[in-house]
Amino acid sequence: MPNPAGPRIAILGLHLEANAFAPMTTAADFRERSFLAGDAIMKNARSAAPIWPMEVPGFVAAMDRMGPWRPVPILVAGAEPGGPADHRFIQDCLKRMHGALKAAGKLDAVYITNHGAMITTEDPDPDGELYAMVRAAIGTEVPIAATVDLHCNPSRRMVDSVDVLIGYITNPHVDMRERAAEAAHALKEMMGGVKTSTAFIKLPIVAPTVTQLTAAGPYAELIALGQKRLAPEIMNVTVLGGFAFSDTPKNGLSIIVTARGANPTPARKLAREIAELAWANRQRFRAKLTALDDAVKMAKQTGGDPKYPALIFADVADNPGGGGGGNTTWLLKALHDAMVQGMLFGVFIDAALARQAHKLGIDARFDATFNGAGETDYAKRFRAQARVTALHDGRFVGRRGIFKGGTVEFGPSAALDLGGISVVVGTQRQQCADPVFFERLGLDIGKARGVVVKSRGHFRAGFDEFFTPDRVIEVDCPGLTSPVLSRFPFKRLPRPSIPLDDDAVWAPPF
Ligand SMILES: [Zn+2]
Repeated sequence: MPNPAGPRIAILGLHLEANAFAPMTTAADFRERSFLAGDAIMKNARSAAPIWPMEVPGFVAAMDRMGPWRPVPILVAGAEPGGPADHRFIQDCLKRMHGALKAAGKLDAVYITNHGAMITTEDPDPDGELYAMVRAAIGTEVPIAATVDLHCNPSRRMVDSVDVLIGYITNPHVDMRERAAEAAHALKEMMGGVKTSTAFIKLPIVAPTVTQLTAAGPYAELIALGQKRLAPEIMNVTVLGGFAFSDTPKNGLSIIVTARGANPTPARKLAREIAELAWANRQRFRAKLTALDDAVKMAKQTGGDPKYPALIFADVADNPGGGGGGNTTWLLKALHDAMVQGMLFGVFIDAALARQAHKLGIDARFDATFNGAGETDYAKRFRAQARVTALHDGRFVGRRGIFKGGTVEFGPSAALDLGGISVVVGTQRQQCADPVFFERLGLDIGKARGVVVKSRGHFRAGFDEFFTPDRVIEVDCPGLTSPVLSRFPFKRLPRPSIPLDDDAVWAPPF
């Protein structure tokens, strides 16, 4: 009998896209970015400009629209993509979630909001541990829906522990709220008695990030096929490109089809059809980048002559949204050495430099040292004469793309004019995926001859009002998120796999 006060639905989740080659993601990194428990989850979800992750506001809004319900908000935590999570912190979160689920009394459903490409310092599948823990805590009769990022590396344990696993269908990711609403509707169906059966296929294709766009290309064709095949018996089609840098045995392009009813055939048939298309197109999952020297030549040309169209250059190998530091200097130094004009560059993460600019004040001229606080293999020191042109506290509401409508915190920030190149310097790692990162500092993208963004692909949904796809230049520099996978000492990736190995083989499992 449905309760007139509405179903009791627990909400919990963890978000971390973990890059095995980046420095450890600490408890402080989670607390700094997103760590909400109990009622704070609901308050944030129903606020005008919620903090990330956007799935929770999407889920709550969809549930609110469907009638009375009783949320049981437990814990939602997420950090900016970074290195493996501190294992102890994740264990503490899981323990806390388990305790809350056990103490919650009778639940009607559970919603898990999750990225799905986390590793900890000890565990290659903590997301699987989360899902299995939830299932064990609530038993087999209570439906669970999980939403994951399209860069999720799903394990068999994840797929088997939930009734439906729903991945984003957009990259750049702009459908978090919609997918969470889909989870709400799926839970409603399942609370009404609908059972599901799921087919899961993983291919030996570890797709470089830049080959996973959903506007066009091999991955877009897989997503489109899956969406075209939605039918009354098919509840959800999820095609996950995965995140190579997690370096786990569960890496690989994954297809998960969830069908209504106990008959396994419809889900299997469709999963196989999509997998066969992916395999037929496997050679297209290779990164094609522009060499640094060529990119500088292009920037010099557009900067010096208005008859050439303005360009946007993506420093794809130093994407904070994939675990990069946002502080490599290859591109900045090369553009500066070439005396490129009319260029905006953002965002460079250097807390000490941002602090120094704030201390010096607007119009101050100084000898700026990027990465002055210390060098790493990727973050080399770079010096240039600079003038402070703007200062900001780094808190704003996103305007376009993945940050749209959400509160963004990137700490004290400054615009530095290096003579031809205006650099936005920030404090907390964030990828430059929204024009507001420049606009808040008074920089006019419409007037720039070129823009550099430290972002792999999400910038496309923010800057497409200025730059058509043919004006996007993906530059090949060293970095923790380089799409040139052969440069990384992978240890746990399944091998052989495309594009690292030519001898990868695959046959349909059913
Ligand atoms: Zn993603």
